[in-house]
Amino acid sequence: MKKVLVIGGGIAGLTLALALKKVGIPVAVHEKYNHYQNQKTGFLIWSYAIKILQDLGVPVDEVGAPLEAFRIHGRKGRFVCKMPIGSVSRLHGANSYEVNRYRLSELLSRMVGDDLILGSECTSVSSVDGQAIATFADGGSDQGDILIACDGSNSVVRKFIHPGVHLRMLGAGGWISVINQRPPLLPLNTQMEFWQPGVKAGVADLGHGETRWYVAFKNYVPSAVESKKDQILNRMKPLPEIIKSCLECTDEDQMVPTQAGDLLALSPWYRDRVLMIGDAAHATSPYAGMGACSAIADASLLADLIASGRSVPAIFQDFQAVRKPAADSVIKDSRRGLDLSTCGDLKGWVRDWMFTNMPEKKLNQIVTDMVTGH
Ligand SMILES: Cc1cc2nc3c(=O)[nH]c(=O)nc-3n(C[C@H](O)[C@H](O)[C@H](O)COP(=O)(O)OP(=O)(O)OC[C@H]3O[C@@H](n4cnc5c(N)ncnc54)[C@H](O)[C@@H]3O)c2cc1C
Repeated sequence: MKKVLVIGGGIAGLTLALALKKVGIPVAVHEKYNHYQNQKTGFLIWSYAIKILQDLGVPVDEVGAPLEAFRIHGRKGRFVCKMPIGSVSRLHGANSYEVNRYRLSELLSRMVGDDLILGSECTSVSSVDGQAIATFADGGSDQGDILIACDGSNSVVRKFIHPGVHLRMLGAGGWISVINQRPPLLPLNTQMEFWQPGVKAGVADLGHGETRWYVAFKNYVPSAVESKKDQILNRMKPLPEIIKSCLECTDEDQMVPTQAGDLLALSPWYRDRVLMIGDAAHATSPYAGMGACSAIADASLLADLIASGRSVPAIFQDFQAVRKPAADSVIKDSRRGLDLSTCGDLKGWVRDWMFTNMPEKKLNQIVTDMVTGH
């Protein structure tokens, strides 16, 4: 293949570019922003996706910290269980990491180098005479043998494949933030979650003296009158002490709003010479902590298929056949994760009892499924 055109320089697009460069396939990545200011958040990348990044030579330690323990607190803030993420991850070949998203973007961008074109917003795509063509907001265009849409949940390229399809909004939402200090109540290499009726919150050590924290309401109606912090203070009761201390050292403009939506059962993911991967194909709500991991797995598999030298239709069909079942189950798990972590008092009591009394073997199996992406 002479050239792969990638639209979107997020985690899917940049990982794909690195994987293609590794096998010597020319690539051009067009990213609409000139900078990554809008991505000052963080995420958890499970072991199986970290392994892919490390195989591509990405020094993950520079942008995050290994996660050892995931501590869940249920109704009334009571401790429910501790998941052994670190030990189980290492059994499967790599640590899982809490990662600063902004720093990861910067790092991957540096590694992709001149093949990443910033400030290049794709406005439409087409497929003509065996070539895929993208046109840009500045009036320019670029073309390649195939075009891979990595332009995220509100994909412009998706309109070429599925005009009129939009995200299904779940009604949940809140904020995520990264602060450059670690609250004393947060142990190193630890993520803590607090599950209460109608709302969940979490806080995680990102390493390098940084912390990410988030709050998500199951039914979120934005308020025009209350500040972001007041919305949390007034609606999450009891407010976990550690979330309170995060709020105290966060500026309102550091709180990035999130609204959950997903794209279950969208098919096909391709048309002619254009294929969608990552959130563009299978956007998920964030409650399983798997969307970025799926995007990384997509990129890795796709690069292997492209390198295999098969025909474009065979590459696209095989890609969807392998990745769609996995992506659909992430979307369903995430919806279930939201219900489980925000359910009402009675269900919450049962849930807390189950996690508190869960046999070690069962808990390890749940962790194994998460770190391996199954
Ligand atoms: C609050 C929150 C928490 C999350 N936590 C986790 C987690 O813990 N673990 C996990 O695995 N996942 C998590 N996710 C999901 C994860 O962030 C996404 O699934 C992942 O970023 C998808 O990667 P992507 O590259 O497909 O899309 P994106 O990361 O959205 O990247 C798309 C890129 O395309 C660019 N772009 C968009 N339109 C155009 C255009 N027209 N032209 C050119 N470029 C364009 C964008 O600027 C962006 O850089 C979370 C998501 C949220 C919202």
